[in-house]
Amino acid sequence: MKIFNPANNTLIQEIETDTKESVAQKVESLKVGQKAWQAVPLAERLGIILKYGELVQDKIEDLAHILTLETGKPIQQSINEIRGANNRLVHLEKHAIKWLSPEVMTEGPTREVVEYEPLGVIANISAWNFPYNVGYNVFLYALVAGNAVCYKPSEFSTLTGLKFQELLWKAGVPSDVFAAFIGTGEVGQYLLESDLDGYFFTGSYETGKYIATQVAHKLVPVQLELGGKDPLYVMDDVPDVKQAAINAAEGAFYNNGQSCCAVERIYVQDGIYDEFISAFVEEVKGYTMGDPLSKDTFIGPVTRSQQVDLILGQIKDALFHGAEIRTGGFRTEGEGNYIVPTVLTSVNHDMRVMKEESFGPIIGIQRVKSDQEAFELMKDTDYGLTAAVFSQDQDRARAILDRLSVGTAYWNCCDRVSPEVPWTGRKNSGLGATLSYQGIRAFVQPKAYHLRG
Ligand code: NDP
Repeated sequence: MKIFNPANNTLIQEIETDTKESVAQKVESLKVGQKAWQAVPLAERLGIILKYGELVQDKIEDLAHILTLETGKPIQQSINEIRGANNRLVHLEKHAIKWLSPEVMTEGPTREVVEYEPLGVIANISAWNFPYNVGYNVFLYALVAGNAVCYKPSEFSTLTGLKFQELLWKAGVPSDVFAAFIGTGEVGQYLLESDLDGYFFTGSYETGKYIATQVAHKLVPVQLELGGKDPLYVMDDVPDVKQAAINAAEGAFYNNGQSCCAVERIYVQDGIYDEFISAFVEEVKGYTMGDPLSKDTFIGPVTRSQQVDLILGQIKDALFHGAEIRTGGFRTEGEGNYIVPTVLTSVNHDMRVMKEESFGPIIGIQRVKSDQEAFELMKDTDYGLTAAVFSQDQDRARAILDRLSVGTAYWNCCDRVSPEVPWTGRKNSGLGATLSYQGIRAFVQPKAYHLRG
């Protein structure tokens, strides 16, 4: 498999991929390794994972360089991601023992106890956009709980996936407990056909739905963290319109908009609309686009060349239906998958840009008259990942957020994830939850003991 740098389309490395046979061999070996790993005391497994966290932080510069080379993520954002993902380790250190230890539910002639057993060997089929964050949500939690993990990185973050393997092994995770499966979707398909005990997927709705249907007959846990079309509504009572615009723009354009919980569409109330648009456009025009290895760069290339066509298609469609371009709107000449950050106004829900996940440096901003109108538009989607409202008045914001079918609701913030609360999508945004105590328990199965005598 050839790995290209999306900043200039040059070849970074050619790499041998797994085959049907090597997948089968690795899975068999993980089945054996998992039994021994389950027998390692929980505190010891946790200690090994914490050691892994230290190794990563020691090598943060090198790891960030690799992430930037293969995904085009601006180097400062790569460093932020690797540093920030460490909060998953802090969360595990604080809570894993509590939530994975046996619980005595009743004392008496019959003691009733719940014990938590690992699922076994699980597949973690993952995405490239935040490989540390979304990978950690699954494989670190699964390993601490005593599972073995088949980790399939996206082909667009393969080198990072191999680093996970190298550093986990170095920290003390046995090589027959964690294995990277290298290749395209074809290798993912071999995992679907393998006899595994759970499937944990991060990626698009289409692939997630396909995976869920392919493995349904196995009756094993399936978790899906999928895409979104996350709305942000800015009410006319925000105390500082300029600051609201700066925050909204960051939510839309951080990591080039390639975040599952990126702000994907914005509604702004009449009274502040003009002021908001001019502050928003000024902010976006000020972003530095360029070489992702430069510390000053905020906007790098789009990671996947296929996505460039989708984004340009959304722009064309929006213009055809009457949208206005306030800035950007085109791909740069020359090497690399660069799209100039694009702000569209005069948009509506007949346009693809307001309905279909963009996953790129583009945003549509729509004027609304009332909270009711904003609410109707916010809920007009097949997705249900996050929604945000900016307002001075929590009650007014909650009157909207409480009625939306989303896994995460933000008041005066957006595009953020915390390990202390569940990360979960509704409707086409997913199934199940990672993070929080629920994400710790996602990788175990309860066994009830009734103990008499
Ligand atoms: P894809 O669905 O294209 O791919 C996800 C993973 O599935 C990749 O590892 C891919 O391999 C693999 N895959 C593809 N086909 C198959 C198959 N037939 N069988 C098994 N595995 C397969 O998603 P992207 O990687 O493009 O990720 C972007 C999407 O992920 C966006 O929709 C985004 O919103 C969503 N996402 C959701 C998050 C959440 O927490 N809710 C977090 C991050 C992203 P390969 O890449 O090698 O083809």
